[in-house]
Amino acid sequence: MGETKPAGKKKVPLFAIIQGATYKNLRHECAQRIVELDFPGYGIGGLMIGEPSLLTNEMVLTVNQVIPEKNLRYLMGCGYPEDILEAVALGVDLFDCVLPTRNGRTGMAFTSHGKIVIKASRYSTDIAPLDKKCNCYTCLNFSRAYLRHLFNTGEALAGRLVSYHNIYFYTKLMSEIRNHIKKGTFSGFSKRMLRKYDFRNS
Ligand SMILES: [Zn+2]
Repeated sequence: MGETKPAGKKKVPLFAIIQGATYKNLRHECAQRIVELDFPGYGIGGLMIGEPSLLTNEMVLTVNQVIPEKNLRYLMGCGYPEDILEAVALGVDLFDCVLPTRNGRTGMAFTSHGKIVIKASRYSTDIAPLDKKCNCYTCLNFSRAYLRHLFNTGEALAGRLVSYHNIYFYTKLMSEIRNHIKKGTFSGFSKRMLRKYDFRNS
């Protein structure tokens, strides 16, 4: 059951998805039964849909205590930078989420100093980039005022440029997480970031 399956010419790992809503006993039983079937990786599904983050973390921890360390753990639909940092601490390896592009299309940028809603009037004459600490194409080439102008005139480029920045922001965050895990400094890094980020509630 755990072998790879062909997808066109390439072989890709087949993941099973563990369910069980927010019932600890059902999550545990589902994880045990699916792990017995021996897949290369496991999706953790049915979470990140508005339940309290403490409950999410409890379910993720329950499942990850069953999944062997050699297998990949993928938390489906996660999420905000804070969610990712908390899930990594619980042993999750992979994530996917629409947030960087969905929010980018409506003008919300994830930045190193918090959330920016670029359509706000206070950015109308702001010649700074979205994020002064960012080296992405958008931040190196366009000002906040110009991005706001693109949104206000209905230019499709507006959503693309902010989405590009957001994806760059997430890619950099994941790169930093990997580097800190390798150096054994993830815990301190995560605490610093969690004190700094408040995207979930802002
Ligand atoms: Zn940027």
